Formats: sequence, C-alpha cells, structure tokens
Amino acid sequence: MLLEEFIIYGVVFLFCGLVIWIYLRKEARQSKLTEAKIEKAVQDGTFEPVSLHPVIDLTTCIKSGACVEACPEKDILGIVNGRATLVNASQCIGHGACFQACPVEAISLVIGTERRGVDLPHVSQNFETNVPGIYIAGELGGMGLIKNSVEQGEAAVESIVQSKFKSEPDHYDLVIVGAGPAGISASLTAKKHQLNTLTLEQDSLGGTVFNFPRSKVVMTAPMHLPLHGKVKLYNTSKSELLDLWHGVIGKNQIKVQEHTKVEEIQMIPSGFMVLTQGGESIKAKNVLLAIGRRGSPRKLGIPGEQLEKVAYRLLEPENISNKKVVVVGGGDSAIEAALSLIDENEVTLSYRSEAFSRLKPQNRVNLEDAIKRNKLNVRLKSNLTSIQDRSVFLQEEHSAEPVELPNDLVYIFAGGELPTQFLQKAGVQITKRFGYTVKSHR
Ligand SMILES: Cc1cc2nc3c(=O)[nH]c(=O)nc-3n(C[C@H](O)[C@H](O)[C@H](O)COP(=O)(O)OP(=O)(O)OC[C@H]3O[C@@H](n4cnc5c(N)ncnc54)[C@H](O)[C@@H]3O)c2cc1C
Repeated sequence: MLLEEFIIYGVVFLFCGLVIWIYLRKEARQSKLTEAKIEKAVQDGTFEPVSLHPVIDLTTCIKSGACVEACPEKDILGIVNGRATLVNASQCIGHGACFQACPVEAISLVIGTERRGVDLPHVSQNFETNVPGIYIAGELGGMGLIKNSVEQGEAAVESIVQSKFKSEPDHYDLVIVGAGPAGISASLTAKKHQLNTLTLEQDSLGGTVFNFPRSKVVMTAPMHLPLHGKVKLYNTSKSELLDLWHGVIGKNQIKVQEHTKVEEIQMIPSGFMVLTQGGESIKAKNVLLAIGRRGSPRKLGIPGEQLEKVAYRLLEPENISNKKVVVVGGGDSAIEAALSLIDENEVTLSYRSEAFSRLKPQNRVNLEDAIKRNKLNVRLKSNLTSIQDRSVFLQEEHSAEPVELPNDLVYIFAGGELPTQFLQKAGVQITKRFGYTVKSHR
C-alpha cells in the first residue's frame, strides 16, 4: 500500500471515529438530561401516567426521536440511550402526535396502567350507554382533546336523531349536560336538527379549556364545528377559542344555562328527570353527558358559600391586589394559588390537617420561604365555618370559639367529586381499565 493511500484510509478512519465519538457523547449527554428530568418527575409525582399515555415498544423503536420532536407538550417523552422513554407521563393530554410520528409504529396509546386503573363508562359505537336514552360524548368516554370531543358531540347527536325517538309534551328532546367542546358541538348539531334542547353547565361555557392554567392551546389537525364549518386553529390561545365558542353559540341563538350543576338523572316512564343543584326538575327524552373527566369542585357546605366572592379556581392572580384573601386547602393547587397572591395581597391559608403532605418539592420550598418572610398566614388544623360579606369565621382546633377575619375573597381547593358516582347513580355501567390500548395501528 502506498503511503498516500495509508494516510487517506487513516484520515477516513479517524473522521469516522470522531463522528461516532461525538454521537455517543451527545447521546450520553441527552440520556443524563432525560434521567435528571425523570428523577424530578418522580419527585413531583408526574412520572406515573394517570390516564391516556404513549407506551413505547422498545423492540421496535429505531431511535428516530420523531415522537419526542412531534409532542406539542413539553417533556412528556425523552430519550435515554437513544430510545424514547416516558418522562412526565401524567401530563400527557393525548394529542397522539407521537403515535402518528413514529415511523415504525412502535407507539401505542394506552389508558391507565397495570397498577393504576381508570374508570371508563360503557359506551356503544353510537355513543349510547347501557341505559337507553343516556348518551356520552367527549373526554368522559376516554378520548381527550378538543377536536375529538367536538367530533364526538356531533356524532352522538346524529345518533340520537337516527334513533327516531318520539317527542313528548313538556319534555326536552335532549338535555345536554356540560358545555365544553363536546357539549358545544352537540348543542350546535341539535340546533341544526331543530331538536328542542337545553344545555346545562355547572360553570361557564368553554369547559376545561376555560380553566386552562396556560393560555396556549394546541390543535394538531383542523376540526369541523357544526353550523360553523372548518376551524383551522393549530396554535391558538384560550381566549381566541373561547371567542369562537361564544360567537357561534350566540349567532345560532343556542340556550346554554350556565351555573347550573346537574346533581342527578332519574329514569321516569316517559324518559328522564334531570335534577339540578338549584332544585329544578327538567324532563327529557334523551340526555347527553358531555361532562368531561375532571368532575365538580367539592364544596364545604357552609353558610355563605354561595356568595360571589367565593371561587373554586384562581384564573388571573395578577389582576388581584390589595385584597384580604383566604385560601382553603393543603394540596398543590391551594399552595400555588396562595403563593401567587402573596405579593399584592394579605393572604391566609387555612388547612384542616396538622401538616402539608405530598406537596411538589418546589411548592414546599416556596411555601416555607413565604412563611419565613411573613408573607403568608398559615392556619393549620383550622376549618372555615361561615362566610360573610366582609369577613369569614375560622374554627381552630385549639380555641373554643371561631375567630373572625376581615375578608374580601375566598378560594376553596377541597378536591373534586369525580363523575364516577354521578354516572353510577344514573345507572351507567363503569369498568376500571388497567392499561387499555386505545390505538395501536394507524
Ligand atoms: C392543562 C390542560 C391542557 C390541555 N391542552 C389541550 C390542548 O392544547 N389541545 C387540546 O386539544 N386539548 C387540550 N386539553 C384537553 C381538552 O381540554 C379536553 O380533552 C377537552 O376539553 C374535553 O372536552 P369535553 O367537552 O369532553 O369536556 P370538558 O372540556 O371537561 O367539559 C366538560 C364540562 O362539563 C361541565 N360539567 C361537569 N359536570 C357537570 C355537571 N354535573 N353539571 C353541569 N355541568 C357539568 C364542566 O364544568 C365542563 O364545563 C388540555 C387539558 C388540560 C387539563
């Protein structure tokens, strides 16, 4: 071999070695970063999936990384040793973009895990439950996302129309419970078919979208909104989407009764009796449940809780200043709400237990810091006993009489009542699904 050839081969060999070395170093750095994120996710309690999430078949995965790139949410997936792995699985909202992006179909979308089951109602292909006349659409049935819910709301009402039910005097043809994406789309479809319909919403029009703690909304594909047409909002904001809902509902003169929680659905010989928290009894031939999976905020059941100054979520803390605020609760939501208000307001945090447990590590650090700086008045082992216009009464375990605190606003974070009990009361069958595959092939 000539010396020149030897040098050329040597250079090529060295170059290839360098490329491989750079690649392996990058992979090792990436793995380290992902492992640190996983460790944090475990500490924060976001590592284990709670509902829909991707499951990666490592024997098929070819290390393309396409799934990680495609996910519109942050850090749901990561790469360790070149292969995809779950990081913050509980934050997956089911865009399914990873599933679509994988070039070798190594990803399945699964609900629940072997250890943690998810309650899912029985729904037939035409969206009817085991109770004839009660239908389910949207996230409650297991499949999340705005687009899916909109499609299902429309399809469910089309099924109701096709069932050729007989209208009854004094009965609505259809009562829709919930005005999120599924309920809105169902209401529009019902209007299109001129069904005598009433939509009841415990909160405000918009559903979970309205409660998003972030303003960004992602839709990976265009959606069809009945009586409106194609909606192409890929990266949009919460307010833009809400404007769209309000516009189309208003334009079509659809009746959505807000701040009306449905407590119970009873079967009667002529159909259903829908009972609301406010004491209304509404007769319906069909009921469509579009109530999502987040349930209803648990109330304390104390005098004054109906006052306008009481809320169960905190939407724009930056707009609240110079107020005397009481936050009730000891979970992450309560702590985060209280901490977001301490700079501009006088905040008291009331919690019935003697210590905060299972907090995200960062929340615990911030809480301790706020207490140290005298920014937050924490009252452990205390219960709110009544709420007045300008004050609240707080019963502390160590004192005989409740103490009165001047007050402008009350935020209650006492957990939620899951829709499971509500469904069971209505006779809808529920099954716990442990690792139920929703999608495994395109
Ligand atoms: C933080 C977060 C971010 C998300 N981001 C996106 C995103 O970017 N893109 C996307 O496509 N999806 C996103 N999703 C998912 C999406 O919001 C849901 O899949 C979708 O809103 C489900 O629609 P739905 O109509 O089935 O239920 P929901 O939107 O949950 O609406 C249900 C409605 O029913 C009402 N209700 C419940 N019980 C009763 C009752 N007893 N009586 C009367 N009313 C009742 C509720 O108040 C609510 O308004 C996100 C979800 C979360 C939590």
